[in-house]
Amino acid sequence: MPGPHKWRRRFGAHVSRWTVSREAIIDLLSRTSKHMSAKEIYASLYKMYPGIGLTTVYRTLDLLVRAGFINKFTIGDGQSRYEFKSGKKKEHHHHLTCIKCGKIIDYSDFMDEELELVKKTEDILAKKHNFNVLGHNIEFYGICEKCK
Ligand SMILES: [Zn+2]
Ligand SMILES: [Zn+2]
Ligand SMILES: [Zn+2]
Repeated sequence: MPGPHKWRRRFGAHVSRWTVSREAIIDLLSRTSKHMSAKEIYASLYKMYPGIGLTTVYRTLDLLVRAGFINKFTIGDGQSRYEFKSGKKKEHHHHLTCIKCGKIIDYSDFMDEELELVKKTEDILAKKHNFNVLGHNIEFYGICEKCK
């Protein structure tokens, strides 16, 4: 199993000061297909790194979002979730979130209409606000098949 250090080698050039928490969080998120909240991340790291604090986890997550390593998005219940951005199993995708059980469906089999709409929306927003759109997070929330 690749340890946290492989990320230092891979991303070291981009982020100047690596700490255990940064490596541990990237390593954790890169190995899971789950969309984890800061508290869940904290809970799984705490076992391995008892010195880590929740505040550190929050701060590190913010930093990693800004550095572009992970995605942050807020699901229906208002809780932020994080996921690793690249890698084979994490292609660009959109989310369907169940507000009852918290299940998150990733999908990347976009409809043509969907792609067109997103592209068009980005173009219009870019012009309207003179804003350079670099990406987007799209999430639909509702009730899943099981919870219906
Ligand atoms: Zn998209
Ligand atoms: Zn559900
Ligand atoms: Zn996702």
